[in-house]
Amino acid sequence: MLRGLMQERPLLTSSLIEYADIYHGDTEIVTRTIEGPIHRTTYREAHRRARKLANALTAIGVKPGERVGTLAWNTYRHFEAYYAISGIGAVCHTINPRLFESQIAYIANHAEDRVLFLDLTFVDLVERLAPTLETIGRYVVMTDAAHMPKTRLKNAVCYEEFIAGASDSFIWPTFDEMAASSLCYTSGTTGNPKGVLYAHRSTVLHSFGACMTDVLGLSARDSVLVIVPLFHANAWGLPYAAPMVGAKLVFPGSKLDGQSVFELLETEKVTFTAGVPTVWLMLLEHLSKSGKDLPFLERLVCGGSAMPRSMIEAFELKYDVRAIHAWGMTEMSPLGTLGLLKAKHAALDKAHQIDVLCKQGRGVYGVEMKIVDDKSSELPRDGKAFGNLMVRGPWICRSYFKAEGSAVDANGWFHTGDVATLDPDGYMQITDRSKDVIKSGGEWISSIDLENAAVGHPKVKEACVIGVRHPKWDERPLLLVVPCDGQSPTKDELIEFLRDKVVKWWLPDDVVVLKELPHTATGKLLKAKLREEYKDYELPTAKLQHSPASD
Ligand code: AMP
Repeated sequence: MLRGLMQERPLLTSSLIEYADIYHGDTEIVTRTIEGPIHRTTYREAHRRARKLANALTAIGVKPGERVGTLAWNTYRHFEAYYAISGIGAVCHTINPRLFESQIAYIANHAEDRVLFLDLTFVDLVERLAPTLETIGRYVVMTDAAHMPKTRLKNAVCYEEFIAGASDSFIWPTFDEMAASSLCYTSGTTGNPKGVLYAHRSTVLHSFGACMTDVLGLSARDSVLVIVPLFHANAWGLPYAAPMVGAKLVFPGSKLDGQSVFELLETEKVTFTAGVPTVWLMLLEHLSKSGKDLPFLERLVCGGSAMPRSMIEAFELKYDVRAIHAWGMTEMSPLGTLGLLKAKHAALDKAHQIDVLCKQGRGVYGVEMKIVDDKSSELPRDGKAFGNLMVRGPWICRSYFKAEGSAVDANGWFHTGDVATLDPDGYMQITDRSKDVIKSGGEWISSIDLENAAVGHPKVKEACVIGVRHPKWDERPLLLVVPCDGQSPTKDELIEFLRDKVVKWWLPDDVVVLKELPHTATGKLLKAKLREEYKDYELPTAKLQHSPASD
């Protein structure tokens, strides 16, 4: 082999903010702050403050490779932290605050976070957890001195004071592009949450992919509202992709209700946004109630769960917004497929175009995909055969953090746990999920954890939890129980029993008491059969607008 003679400049995330500063220094970053008011800054100022933060972190002894946690909403301070932490070679570990408290502690301890950046919203939570957090030596509350609460947290400092004295001159170090840049735990698998450890190289390559026209198609003319949380797979890569092209960034803070999202779409002339179906449903409800329109919005990406046809129709036909279906996983950085049309679809009528848009989309360059049967034989790409969806590529996880063994098979393929078809045009459609988890409002619920908790009830012999369609949350858990002989547990007593064992939004929406549950020959629950049987089950909550995951 003759080695090429091109420069081997490493792909590092610091180059993205540096680029945005030089070429798009006056482009805005707008935030609805946790304190309340709208805050405006620019890429140049964010870069300057990221350098101050880099000096402040270095001064307290944070070393390359060490993990720094964040428990925070989408704001400019969180954005600065992303770049400062990874820029010095440390690892930005975003923690999902919607998890059960003991899981948050597990994750922070497993990652061995040294410092924790937290929003004002989470001070009480972290005070409760602090005695169990084994490695965190310092807490940085992401606010200014005027809003800093009295807190029991040791070594707590507010963000603005933390960076105030630090110099803004800092040269980003150059190091191996395979160095870890960020860490995100997924609970979309069984057992304890697993850490996906992104590299600088995978993150920058993913950003190139994200910016492609048929992917997110971002440009310097876009105003991007980042609805997907910064703690969900790096907000689908938007905090990296937007600076790569100099798109304006808009952060919603903690407010994701229809009215708040609409206000930002309007005042910031947002052209592009991305989030899970539950948020878009709340926006559509608000639009329909208020009679408002979306004059600036051009593209809306929806992923994390399937985007219902009615939602695509509403955005496409009523509001003239391109509704783009996306599929991916935390393990995939996360982008895998995007549902834009091909030239040949232009001649189709709208209803047939929407048939195509309902699929999860075409594979992005950089992501190889195939479907296989249970014996690992590849199935045809005919749009009919369905099988286990496997993926491979430079921004897909190879192993989980501190886990033994590999996450991929001998040929490097990662098993997604999704069951799908692939059609001759390359569009993928998910038909089922083989993993034992339920997705509600973009967040995972472990059916196994719920079952284990439910069988702890003295009147329950056997329990099974399945996901049932819900108009707002996509799926909600339904608990099926077989009682012990002579017992008849009620829904209320079972829910009450689970209340201190799982986070509130995990509580099953309904309970069905059965004489028996179906099993395989080896004694495993036949969940696919139960899912099929209860596919049209109407949950009592289906009409009520309660709000577990996006509270
Ligand atoms: P996460 O790692 O939390 O991002 O979840 C990834 C999983 O969410 C996938 O493996 C799918 O099961 C599900 N998912 C993501 N996007 C979609 C989509 N567009 N349609 C259906 N399921 C999806």
